[in-house]
Amino acid sequence: MYAEVLVEYGAKSLDRTFTYIIPDHLKHLKVGMKVLVSFGKNTISGFVTKITDQTEVENLKEIIEIIDQDLVLNEELMSLGKCLNELTLCSLITAYQTMFPSSLKINTKDINYQLYDEYLEVVNINDANNFINNNPRKKRQIEILNYVLDNDNVLKQEFSGQPLNTLIKEGLIKIKKVKRVRIKPNKENYEKYKLTAEQNDVLEVIKSSLNKEKTFLIHGITGSGKTEVYLRAIKEVIKEGKTAIMLVPEISLTAQVVNQFYERFGDEVAVFHSALSPGEKYDEYLKIYNNQVKIVVGTRSAIFVPLENIGIIIIDEEHSDSYKQENNPRYHALDMAKFRSKYHNCPLVLGSATPTLESFARAKKDVYKLLKLQNRIGNSKLPNIEIVDMSLEMKKRNLIFSQILLDKIKSRLEKQEQVIILLNRRGFSTIVSCRNCGYKYECPHCAITLTYHKSSNMMRCHYCGYSKEKPLKCFQCQEEALKDAGLGTEKLEIELQKVFPSSKIIRMDKDTTTKKGSHEKIINEFKNNDYDILLGTQMIAKGLDFPRVSLVGVINADSSLNIPDFRSNERTFQLLSQVSGRAGRSKYPGEVVLQTFNPDNKTLNYIKNHDYEGFYNYEMNLRRLMSYPPYYYLITIKALSNSYEESSLEINKIKTHLLKNIDKQSIILGPTIANPFKVNNKYRFQLIIKYKIDKNIMNTLKEIDELYKTNTKVNIEIDTSPLSL
Ligand code: ADP
Ligand code: ZN
Repeated sequence: MYAEVLVEYGAKSLDRTFTYIIPDHLKHLKVGMKVLVSFGKNTISGFVTKITDQTEVENLKEIIEIIDQDLVLNEELMSLGKCLNELTLCSLITAYQTMFPSSLKINTKDINYQLYDEYLEVVNINDANNFINNNPRKKRQIEILNYVLDNDNVLKQEFSGQPLNTLIKEGLIKIKKVKRVRIKPNKENYEKYKLTAEQNDVLEVIKSSLNKEKTFLIHGITGSGKTEVYLRAIKEVIKEGKTAIMLVPEISLTAQVVNQFYERFGDEVAVFHSALSPGEKYDEYLKIYNNQVKIVVGTRSAIFVPLENIGIIIIDEEHSDSYKQENNPRYHALDMAKFRSKYHNCPLVLGSATPTLESFARAKKDVYKLLKLQNRIGNSKLPNIEIVDMSLEMKKRNLIFSQILLDKIKSRLEKQEQVIILLNRRGFSTIVSCRNCGYKYECPHCAITLTYHKSSNMMRCHYCGYSKEKPLKCFQCQEEALKDAGLGTEKLEIELQKVFPSSKIIRMDKDTTTKKGSHEKIINEFKNNDYDILLGTQMIAKGLDFPRVSLVGVINADSSLNIPDFRSNERTFQLLSQVSGRAGRSKYPGEVVLQTFNPDNKTLNYIKNHDYEGFYNYEMNLRRLMSYPPYYYLITIKALSNSYEESSLEINKIKTHLLKNIDKQSIILGPTIANPFKVNNKYRFQLIIKYKIDKNIMNTLKEIDELYKTNTKVNIEIDTSPLSL
């Protein structure tokens, strides 16, 4: 017998299979297994894509071994990989790697949400005492042993490092993993509510098509009880002996959702996302793989889990950009979900208060079935939103806060209600420049100005991480005339504290959440009323449920409007509607203040009126006039190079090639410089393709991709579903 093996070899150009002999002791080899093979002088790994009993190739080598006997990509995942490869033009090997647990990306930077706590335990008290008595010189190890002997619940992180590792290796101390979240179903909580009539209607429609491939869009305003509908739909599916996948945008911020799932379904739930440690991830993966769980809750990458017999797939906050992966493979979880819903003949449910224009347009055309939740639970109302013209405030010398926002904050502090303030820009100031000569500090590697962070006195690049201490004198003219302008959350916190010296303010942005568990800590402390004001970037806008928040202030509602991208209105609508939705969720009526220099801006006024459909019609008209999605599909092609000339030359060649090969109806824009033009020393040029139907386009893109695989000077990045231009 022979196996076709797709080898994991660094160079992109090798995306093809090679034939190997299956030796007798590996007769149980299956398609979808990972194996070790020799390749040239190296031993490398690969995926088995086919098993045959004949071959014409000669001088074959044998497969060396199977890497993990117990892990196989099943037939569905093998074809999902093919689909990923075709849709995104990534290599097939990248597609399979994306789905395999050992290579599932672990994002250690963002570890904020852990599943387990690791405790230290002494394995055997006698052995420990012997060690202590006989090794007087190993002071640090004795100290650890004594401490663990004397104390309960000692967390591993209290003693990381070599001495502890040695104790573990020698079998004196072991690690006990304890699930952090409560996983026992809580009977009291179990369906304590009676569904509202609206919720019930929506649920009934979904229930009536449980064994069909059908996509639903739940358009439900903030606080309308979408989660409860998801939970009940999943319960139905499980009753029928099937399983469910539920995707959420960011686990760290949706711990609330996960806990609801644990309460309802106990240990039938697995949680899966990129912030788990490698060990946790492997544990959860195996549980799914071995059919020990029925429900998987997770972020984007959870769409690839090896769950069988899927009965429903749910994508909560479907408008969220986090469902799109911005690096290779550049896939959108929605496309993968559609493949799986078709494969399993099961419904796909999308939910949002602010669906993407693409999704809502499909719903209007009955491609998706539209379901509505138009009321908040209980008697709470959507907040009253006020637009404040900051150009008038400037004349009164109110540079950061409008008088009306200050008055409202003051009254909340007096009533001991809580306030959320959004400013979608971190750092202290956004620009450092010279008053004398006009010099601006830019990143030496990227075409972007440096952001000043006051607490560290550093100027930082938010693209590549470059940082430099803020100098006293200007680099160009040597005058002591540096000033910083532009407002970031760090400065806002200081300014707000000046106005309300006795108020307790907590800030949540990328800079205050780098430590493990810091997201949850901030959220929990704010929820417990330890703070009066929560201030932060878009991180604070999503999915949080704080009953005491009765005021939301948006400091610069224009910041996302001014980004030069055709989706900036849509993003602004989503962000500001979401953050407004944090106000007035229970008995305290909510109010929102939007500060802007464009009080007549249409988007802001649709937000003010909670008018999603009005915004939709207005924005669709612009999209139609400008030939943008959902009227056209988009593709971007970027050429990246250390050399400006090479990059510019090649992007023009690509354009010529496209013009010759793609449909005449398709539109090519550019080449233009990408935004930002330079990142990490690479100059970036870009083409944008707009098309409706184009039979040749995918093949042409594949040719282009193929052509550049071996080019060492210029890299090509093709995105077949770009979220930003
Ligand atoms: P959404 O996700 O639509 O913003 P949530 O699912 O967070 O809304 O629901 C808002 C609140 O209402 C939650 O605290 C939830 O527990 C509660 N809730 C949901 N359904 C009901 C119901 N039928 N009766 C009472 N409370 C409900
Ligand atoms: Zn940079």
